[in-house]
Amino acid sequence: MPVADPVEKREVAIIGAGLAGCLAAALLGRRGYAVTLYERRDDPRATGAERGRSINLALSARGLGALAEVGLEQDVLDHGLPMHGRMVHALDAPPQLQPYSADRDRAIHSVSRGRLNAILLDTAEAVPGVRIVFGHQLESVDLDRATLTFRTDTGPVEATAGLVLGADGSYAASRRAVTFRPGFDFSQDYLSHGYKELTIPAVDGDFAIDPGALHIWPQGSSMMIALPNLDKSFTCTLFWTAAEFESLRTDAEIRAHFATYYPDVAGLIPDLVTDFRANPVGSLVTIRCSPWVHHGEGASLALLGDAAHAIVPFFGQGANCAFEDCIELDRLLATADGDLVGALDAYQDARKANCDAIADMALDNFVEMRDRVNSPAFRLRSKARHTLERAFPGRFPTRYELVSFSTVPYVEIEERMRRQNLTLAGAAAGIGAALIALRRTRVGS
Ligand SMILES: Cc1cc2nc3c(=O)[nH]c(=O)nc-3n(C[C@H](O)[C@H](O)[C@H](O)COP(=O)(O)OP(=O)(O)OC[C@H]3O[C@@H](n4cnc5c(N)ncnc54)[C@H](O)[C@@H]3O)c2cc1C
Repeated sequence: MPVADPVEKREVAIIGAGLAGCLAAALLGRRGYAVTLYERRDDPRATGAERGRSINLALSARGLGALAEVGLEQDVLDHGLPMHGRMVHALDAPPQLQPYSADRDRAIHSVSRGRLNAILLDTAEAVPGVRIVFGHQLESVDLDRATLTFRTDTGPVEATAGLVLGADGSYAASRRAVTFRPGFDFSQDYLSHGYKELTIPAVDGDFAIDPGALHIWPQGSSMMIALPNLDKSFTCTLFWTAAEFESLRTDAEIRAHFATYYPDVAGLIPDLVTDFRANPVGSLVTIRCSPWVHHGEGASLALLGDAAHAIVPFFGQGANCAFEDCIELDRLLATADGDLVGALDAYQDARKANCDAIADMALDNFVEMRDRVNSPAFRLRSKARHTLERAFPGRFPTRYELVSFSTVPYVEIEERMRRQNLTLAGAAAGIGAALIALRRTRVGS
């Protein structure tokens, strides 16, 4: 299919001024592209955060590394709180800290989603050549005519662009524009669990529980987690099935359930009943699609962030991964030498398998968080792994370490874990054989 002269493609429309859209706008603006960032909402810096999204999120090495590219790493760290491990709250034992890394200084960082989005909006807006247009909800994209249509308060608005980046989240309208193209693969898998947020406020001006950890109350088939906020509150997130949410009908049932299953914090959530009733249940979806990149006669479209690959939040990687997309896309566009089509195709090749890999690991980590962290065998294994990693630095990193504290491509992590496990199994077998031989020698002598 003929593609218009790449020079015209320097006119970029980015759909969605969320986390990925803003970072992509700042990066491409710096490269000299004329970027218009279209956002459905009004400016959240003026109106406040939207309800129904997580209040805070955990950023780790990948996200922070990407933010460093636009000089934001320290700014974001200054607005975050380090969490060095999981504080596991079991019903029958005092809370226990499980460090995330063999290196006790390593931490993931709890940041406010609203604050992070505001910092990114400010950064994108400050780049010459970037324009942000709020109150524009994408309705359709015509890649042959290079035309986009938006719904606004004053009626439909048309715009043109040679390159369209779809960063409009899990339910992306930009993705819908290509969903019915022949050969477009698409799947969305909802978890049977949803999420609801509650708040532990500060007590006497201080944190009610340890702010240096991500707290988990594992319950086997479900769980609650809590992340600290700068105002010394915690945002708790319940990950329950619909049946569990619906089973608590009366105020007394809500109070009794929390007193039984979350006894150490039930008394720290003063608005438990009102918040449990009022706060929405969000859904958790894994979205996979392919291709992410589409070319028409007048324009090309590439999807990024949740629009391309929404994942469940149990590895805290959705935003981190979306930021990595932006960096990869920017890097490939910078070296494209006029070959926009090639750069976009290379972007998809570089990211798709990685995003599929973290989607699988995120699903698996739900079982680890809600169930395995509570088992003595799991705790012993993690301790042994950290001891080995300290003894042989870089040789035996855990999967968590590779996901959260490195930028090793996600797709390589499972293979590295498989090789490590083989090495460890071989070493264990060798030690076992040596011990048996030693015992036989002793018995024989
Ligand atoms: C409960 C929960 C906890 C999470 N915790 C973490 C965590 O700890 N760490 C982590 O890394 N990730 C976490 N995530 C994932 C993270 O929130 C997402 O991966 C991230 O927000 C993706 O960024 P995005 O820019 O692709 O999409 P979004 O942040 O969803 O932004 C999309 C933007 O597009 C706009 N938009 C939508 N439709 C249109 C339209 N038609 N026209 C114009 N604009 C439109 C939206 O208003 C929004 O501003 C969590 C997610 C959930 C649900």
